[in-house]
Amino acid sequence: MEMEPRIEVIRREPHVDIDRNERRDLVFRSVARRPLTARLAVQLVTLAVVIFIGWQFAVWVGHLEQGRIAGTRPPGVEGFLPISALISLRHLLVTGDFSRIHPAGLMIFSLAMLSGLLLKKAFCSWLCPIGTASEWLARTSHRVFGRRIKLPRWLDYTLMSLKYLLLGYFIFAVFIQMSPTQLAHFIDSPYNKVADIMMLHFFQHISTVALTVIGALVVLSFLVPYFWCRFLCPYGALLGILSWLSPLKIRRDTDYCTDCTGCAAVCPSFIAVDRKLTVNSPECTGCLECVHHCPVGPALEVRTIGRWRRTVRPAVFAAAVVLLFYGGIGMAKLTGHWRTAITDREFLQRVQEIDDPKYYHARGEVPDYGPED
Ligand code: SF4
Ligand code: SF4
Repeated sequence: MEMEPRIEVIRREPHVDIDRNERRDLVFRSVARRPLTARLAVQLVTLAVVIFIGWQFAVWVGHLEQGRIAGTRPPGVEGFLPISALISLRHLLVTGDFSRIHPAGLMIFSLAMLSGLLLKKAFCSWLCPIGTASEWLARTSHRVFGRRIKLPRWLDYTLMSLKYLLLGYFIFAVFIQMSPTQLAHFIDSPYNKVADIMMLHFFQHISTVALTVIGALVVLSFLVPYFWCRFLCPYGALLGILSWLSPLKIRRDTDYCTDCTGCAAVCPSFIAVDRKLTVNSPECTGCLECVHHCPVGPALEVRTIGRWRRTVRPAVFAAAVVLLFYGGIGMAKLTGHWRTAITDREFLQRVQEIDDPKYYHARGEVPDYGPED
């Protein structure tokens, strides 16, 4: 006896015509849904790791400031130095030399970029702590207002261009303006060597202006979901561009799709997934919420492109994200590409003299760093 295919059981009335306003209401007035459990778990674990790293780093710096070496400097803190990592990456491409000043920063940046190439912008929706915070703000906003808020298209597109302008500025400054000598001097500069400690000081002694800007971004991210990620983050912009090359795509099968709009209603990037055959948008974060919430199994799947099209189940996608990122970090540790070459003794000496002008950063200009005395 032939088994009835599972899809026949859950198949709905296909291609129900709904007018524009009804679709808009379905998409924007939907209730906030529970995220994919695997993604939530990866987000929570990563957030816990980041908080632990921050605490461990603050304790270690605190000891240095009191003139003693105690505790451990967590290399993962270098993940918050993306500009330094971009400079180290270009230095690596130009000279073949893997900088040992912030090797963990370079590894984290490279793994994030690799994840963009292979797994879309999964870094944003599965790993990035700012992405996680933005998502929770967006979900709270959805619950409070009972709808998802989206700016008018002209304003949305205009603001979205800002992150590409910022990215363009950094790429221009690092890849065009800086000579190989300037790259090397920046990497070995006193400022770069203690950039992570400077960053900690920035937050420990935060100015009123900086606090106001951060507060404004939090409020804006509550009122306009993903304000920072969608409009201002150059890291995400770069990942979005790389994600175009990803061999994985969200594909909708019109033979099974019932046009229920459920996928569009949960897409945090406001992509009209229910109208596309393939999602190619650089705004797609690979969160898989659309796939997870599609009521008709094969109507929406992650598939590989090319001749051998394969469906990639969310569990496999989750495993790939974890393996690539945390596996990559494990490999970096095993191969000696994780810990800085700067000794604790050198850090101790630098922390004592950190107010010296040689640690100042030439803001807004490509600095002409000479070698240290
Ligand atoms: S299209 Fe799907 S995977 Fe991409 S961001 Fe939207 S909900 Fe997430
Ligand atoms: S969730 Fe999207 S892909 Fe799935 S049936 Fe509804 S409209 Fe079609």
